Amino acid sequence: MPESRDHAVVVGASLAGLLAARVLSRHFGRVTIVERDHLPGTPDVRPGIPQGHHLHILWTRGLELIEGLFPGFEEEMRAAGAPMLRAPQDALWLTAAGWRRRFAVTRLLTFGRGLLDWTLLGRLAGDVELMTGYEVTGLVPRGRGVAGVIARERGEPGAGEPLRADFVVDASGRSARTPGWLAELGYPAPRETVVDPLLGYASRHYAIPEGFAAGWKALYLQADPPATRRTGGLFPMQGGRWMCSLSGAGRDYAPTGEEAFLDFAKNLRSPLLYEAIRDAEPLTPIVGFRHTANRRRHYDRLPAWPDGFVVMGDALCTFDPIYGQGMSVAALQAVALDGWLRGHADTRRFQRTAARVASGAWLIATGEDLRYAETEGPPIRLRTRIVNRYVSRVVGAANVDRRVCAQLLDVLALRSRPASLFLPPVLLRVMTADRSAAPLEEDLVSGAEPGPPAGGAASGH
Ligand SMILES: Cc1cc2nc3c(=O)[nH]c(=O)nc-3n(C[C@H](O)[C@H](O)[C@H](O)COP(=O)(O)OP(=O)(O)OC[C@H]3O[C@@H](n4cnc5c(N)ncnc54)[C@H](O)[C@@H]3O)c2cc1C
Repeated sequence: MPESRDHAVVVGASLAGLLAARVLSRHFGRVTIVERDHLPGTPDVRPGIPQGHHLHILWTRGLELIEGLFPGFEEEMRAAGAPMLRAPQDALWLTAAGWRRRFAVTRLLTFGRGLLDWTLLGRLAGDVELMTGYEVTGLVPRGRGVAGVIARERGEPGAGEPLRADFVVDASGRSARTPGWLAELGYPAPRETVVDPLLGYASRHYAIPEGFAAGWKALYLQADPPATRRTGGLFPMQGGRWMCSLSGAGRDYAPTGEEAFLDFAKNLRSPLLYEAIRDAEPLTPIVGFRHTANRRRHYDRLPAWPDGFVVMGDALCTFDPIYGQGMSVAALQAVALDGWLRGHADTRRFQRTAARVASGAWLIATGEDLRYAETEGPPIRLRTRIVNRYVSRVVGAANVDRRVCAQLLDVLALRSRPASLFLPPVLLRVMTADRSAAPLEEDLVSGAEPGPPAGGAASGH
């Protein structure tokens, strides 16, 4: 626990950093975010968040937590054009076990990623100081702890100058150099667990055709591993656009060439996405992304940990992005940071909590990725195989049973723990679900399996 609360520094101005800065502004006299990019001042993608070119959905739990930290957030995003989808009913969703019925269950916010960061940055203006175009190169030691960061102007030679602080949050994301910074202070490298599905994205924006009225707002066509490895998502975003993200696991990377991209879309498990984009106007180049491994750094298990320093967000744990959980985990950790700063525990305790709140998402993402034969990682345990068999049944039952669907989406949205899928009432419904009631593609397309009436509230949330 920091002794003095004059100044806190956050490394990285992406989502985890922005949420941390909001929390710290409640507890410290001054907060400075050090970000190596120059921020665009518009809702555009920037080099430091290359994932911004790809589909981002915010599940309910993340939405609620961000709303709690920035009241009015949802309204502001929607006013800027971010669509709120009723899930799954606004979407045609092909799961590994077939098409899902269009139940009224929950909500999802979708957007071009730049809009999210730009909105939150706007809300922080006046509350935090921004040092953009500065790269953190190390930590300033003080006794058994950290007394700030060393930062240099990007592109300048040398290690840089110290920026003193009572507390430092490392939110430097997927490319974090934290183990090296800690090694310079004499700490051993943390153990890492990596589960790599060898999955690659390719994405592009399309103009939603004028008068488009297919009876759905989003398409989500999932792989059914190990038989198939390709997934496609077509979701609306601000500006009347579709974000189309294709992905392939097991080195079947989605391609970035014009024809190959369309060809990949054509070979998804349903032709619907291909048929939607075939004649739509592309608005951006096709952009790829392949750094999708699940990677967990076990800082919580190091024998010693410096005072005044914590790591959160993707710098601590990244997930295969296809399950859409990283932002919600960052929000859970930010709320945990707030609770921790109100208490009297040491920094190790926070690292343990941050690891714990990431564990549900980790279980889901790695469990699913281990279904691909090519996934690289630790040997698959018998327990994982048994759980995966059961989860396959849950997915099939969720396609036809509204309550199982609600429970499954609650787990994916990190509102409930994965273990809740094993509770007797859920288990009974899973075992007795009538899978023959699953809709056929032609029913969904013809409207014979309609979505609930427009404006119908998502019940239960
Ligand atoms: C393709 C893709 C799709 C995704 N889709 C979803 C989704 O649908 N739903 C979801 O919830 N999550 C999704 N995610 C995850 C989500 O993007 C991240 O979890 C989220 O951005 C939080 O990351 P972060 O803030 O910890 O780190 P990052 O977003 O990686 O940001 C790190 C920041 O730190 C800065 N930085 C790095 N090093 C330094 C340094 N030395 N000095 C100063 N600044 C530095 C970088 O410039 C950057 O701004 C997706 C991720 C990918 C890759």
